[in-house]
Amino acid sequence: MAKLQCVRGTYDLYGAPKRKAKKVVETAASVVEKYGFEEIETPIFEFTEVFARNLGETSDIVTKEMYCFEDRGGESLTLRPEGTAGIVRAFISEGMQQNLPLKFYYTGPMFRYERPQKGRQRQFTQFGVELLGVATPQADIEVIAMAYAFLERLGLEGAVTVEINSLGDSESRAAYRKKLVAYLKEHYDELSEESKIRLEKNPLRVLDSKEECDKAVVENAPLYADSLNESSAAFFKKVLEGLDLLGIKYHVNNRLVRGLDYYAHTVFELTTDKLGAQGTVLAGGRYDGLVAQMGGGDVSGIGWACGVERLALLLDKEPERPRPIAVIPVGEEEENAALKVANDLRLAGFTIELSYSGNLKKRMIKANKVNACKAVIIGSEELKSGAVTVKNLDSGEQKIVYLSDLTEEI
Ligand code: ATP
Ligand code: MG
Repeated sequence: MAKLQCVRGTYDLYGAPKRKAKKVVETAASVVEKYGFEEIETPIFEFTEVFARNLGETSDIVTKEMYCFEDRGGESLTLRPEGTAGIVRAFISEGMQQNLPLKFYYTGPMFRYERPQKGRQRQFTQFGVELLGVATPQADIEVIAMAYAFLERLGLEGAVTVEINSLGDSESRAAYRKKLVAYLKEHYDELSEESKIRLEKNPLRVLDSKEECDKAVVENAPLYADSLNESSAAFFKKVLEGLDLLGIKYHVNNRLVRGLDYYAHTVFELTTDKLGAQGTVLAGGRYDGLVAQMGGGDVSGIGWACGVERLALLLDKEPERPRPIAVIPVGEEEENAALKVANDLRLAGFTIELSYSGNLKKRMIKANKVNACKAVIIGSEELKSGAVTVKNLDSGEQKIVYLSDLTEEI
């Protein structure tokens, strides 16, 4: 029997939490548009392969978090768990290769079958950016600076830390992988069952494990920095110099790897200590191999995504709403006149709360409840001479105003 409630890990968003989430998205959009990023919207579901093949077969998302289903035509489809794969799919299937570089942003729901807790939902919203076709460190610098500017605009720059690392190019990763496998094999018995499997399929994933026994082993694993070849190290140096130039404080975290397989060179996370285990609010990196892997040629990419609800949890102040003006008929007789006045004022650009019912006292109480700044009171006597009463609800001051002067007056 279906129950009359939300599915576990999904939520109805309304009131203050919705206003905060909306502010996060609007702030992000206004910041990234200043960098020339344009919105793209891709479908919420894709063929399962788009994710299963490209996120990495040993990633948490693919092994245990995807919402896959068969549609009525027998196709295997998946609710998107993240945004990048769908955008690269669009880049290829829409034939956008001629227009590089491309700068996209997106926002919308993502779906992952996870254990719900504060800041961890089964349906959540991401806002993200993707910059395609720029292989130089300038892209890394600008994309990180953009993330920082966004959090600064939200007033969170003091609450987050920028963690950054380099995974290097494929040669560096291969060299690192070799060292890592040798090390992990020495500690094989201490690893979780899952990590034993990862060791065979994709040892880098062991670094990202959340199991305590794995973490203990990872603690002393070889460092990525020692395996970077010369060009990868130079690339990373340039990225850091750029961040220095822009005054962005960061912390080089040699243990930082990302959960998905497609990352290379720069990876970064913006973290907070205010959300317990859900400390990462924004994460991203360079994914130079992904477009080629999906069949779209040698096109580099870099991007990030943030968890909108997680960021909203960090906003302690409720976003301000414009204070409305209440339009209040003193009784039923004046309701039509009020309807007309409300309509005219809205057309003139004011935010109006029309009072629907009750006696004058009740209507005034409601006007205060919606935090109205003024009340336009429509009484029968004044109306006869084409006037209404305008009351300032903060000072209590009131005066009679002719309808013809009303917009001017308020
Ligand atoms: P985590 O380590 O918390 O599971 P992740 O590495 O899986 O995060 P990404 O795939 O990088 O996360 O997604 C980018 C951002 O989306 C995260 O930093 C986080 O803010 C948000 N996010 C990821 N999963 C969830 C979720 N289940 N509920 C809410 N927000 C999420
Ligand atoms: Mg996760």
